[in-house]
Amino acid sequence: MAILLDNLGDLERTHSCGELRAEDAGKTVVLMGWVAVRRDFGPLTFVDLRDREGLMQVVFNEETAPEAHARAKELRGEYVVAVRGEVVPRSEATRNPRLSTGDIEVRARELLVLNEARTPPFQLDAPPDKLASEDVRLKYRYLDLRRPQLQANLRLRARVVSEIHRFMDGEGFTEIETPILIKSTPEGARDYVVPSRLHHGKFYALPQSPQIFKQICMIAGLERYYQIARCFRDEDLRADRQPEFTQLDVEFSFASPEQVYRLIEGLMQRVFRLVGVELPEKFPRLTYAEALRRYGSDKPDLRFGMELQDLSHALEATTFAPFALVFEKGGEVKGLTLKGGAHLSRKSLDELQEFTRRYGAGTYTPLWVTDFPMFEYDEEHERFYAMHHPFTSPLDEDLPLFERAVEGGETALLGNLRAKAYDTVINGIEVAGGSIRIYRQDVQRLVFKALGLSEEKARARFGFFLDALEFGTPPHGGIASGIERLLMALAGIDNIRDVMAFPKTASAADLMIDSPGELDPSQLDELHIRIVED
Ligand code: ASP
Repeated sequence: MAILLDNLGDLERTHSCGELRAEDAGKTVVLMGWVAVRRDFGPLTFVDLRDREGLMQVVFNEETAPEAHARAKELRGEYVVAVRGEVVPRSEATRNPRLSTGDIEVRARELLVLNEARTPPFQLDAPPDKLASEDVRLKYRYLDLRRPQLQANLRLRARVVSEIHRFMDGEGFTEIETPILIKSTPEGARDYVVPSRLHHGKFYALPQSPQIFKQICMIAGLERYYQIARCFRDEDLRADRQPEFTQLDVEFSFASPEQVYRLIEGLMQRVFRLVGVELPEKFPRLTYAEALRRYGSDKPDLRFGMELQDLSHALEATTFAPFALVFEKGGEVKGLTLKGGAHLSRKSLDELQEFTRRYGAGTYTPLWVTDFPMFEYDEEHERFYAMHHPFTSPLDEDLPLFERAVEGGETALLGNLRAKAYDTVINGIEVAGGSIRIYRQDVQRLVFKALGLSEEKARARFGFFLDALEFGTPPHGGIASGIERLLMALAGIDNIRDVMAFPKTASAADLMIDSPGELDPSQLDELHIRIVED
């Protein structure tokens, strides 16, 4: 049976639960929030009241406020209440040094029960290792989001985004919104598509990024564009991916790589200062080839300082099959030096890595990885793909090689081409990536050709862009930084879903609203779509 609820009326909250301190003793306050815990001790009832700023202990005393005390007995977890009372110091014995408000409590005089709550399907204040499964928490996301940790993440996210706006504005960039209903943009993933009702049999695609539009903005003479853009990629999901995510997207005209590096270094410094981290003024640089040779990765985590050593010479005569096989194929075997680590088991090595990741190497180590390959060969489809995207410029000195590869039919050479592409990597996380773009129509056509697009196909898909390139396109370049990845690097968070308000699962489902969902037959009819059963 529903309990009798009070109306909020004109009552206004005077303070948040987390902001009161010992100096506030003596004040009469009105607090509003959720019941975190209730503890009964006969004539005294204690309630931990929670709002987004923190927790406050409220005491209901049968003697001094009998009505409020009686009402407090009805309270259960997550009930919504308003309390009027007085801030009083706690006795020495009952102080809680782990709570920022732990020196005081509020002695309640009046209690309004504003709303009741069903028993939550999981315990909100469970320790991290005892939290309910993520699926349950995603289904009841509104409850999970009441946890202080997630609230803190979302507030940090908002601060990061507003700092980005301030920074980009200060650098003279104009925020421009690009459309969400577009045509396929080739960033290497599958597109999410939206059927058109008005254009029978046609589909929009959701942007994998605003790439073409931001380049068109440069052709349009806008010179400095940025956007906090939502991007959609229908990929097989990995732990650090989401089907929709947000990125700071930047493009500017007459850009050199050096200018991009300076801009992003300045931006990262500003953003990392929000968490009290001072990044170096200039980030070290490694070419892609060097990064692979020295660290075996194009996103090395320099905190470990564990450079790979070439062991090929030492192991030349090996009969150990996995190594011998590598040598047979002309490969190299490399190893890590771990001082005093000869006795460590595999398990201890893994634990060590985890330990350094967590505690050991707190110094943030950013770097640039540059000169990525232009193309990557895909064995399965037996063709080359653009490693960044097809609008990325080759290095000027590689242009003759490029022409030879495409026009001279020496296709294999494509694998040797380097691009004016760069990534910002912080602690092994790729927090930004971009390139200087192709601005000459002839070079752009060459890339499409290298990717196996016939003239007709290239025109059908990118005719508008090839045309635009012919109307005085300035040299330009840019970069994009995934906001979620940036936050993960910034706050040392492993789970991408913990920095998003309403994330999807690894199979791209939203468990709270139960999406994707089916359509009514009438909606399908309107769209001229028939579902074919497998
Ligand atoms: N469009 C690219 C991406 O989303 C970034 C860029 O080249 O600016 O990865």
